[in-house]
Amino acid sequence: MHKKSRSRTRHRRAHWKAAQPLLARCANPACALPTPPHAACQHCGMYRGRQVLPPA
Ligand SMILES: [Zn+2]
Repeated sequence: MHKKSRSRTRHRRAHWKAAQPLLARCANPACALPTPPHAACQHCGMYRGRQVLPPA
């Protein structure tokens, strides 16, 4: 029996799961739609209380 390398262990099928699509609630109370955290909201273009994108 060969020692299983850490790489091989971590490459097992059980570790292939895709990362959960992270979604937090938009900080803009007027929007409050699910949006990725630490990113400008794709719905209202607000990030940390500032308009950083043109609203869609
Ligand atoms: Zn929003």
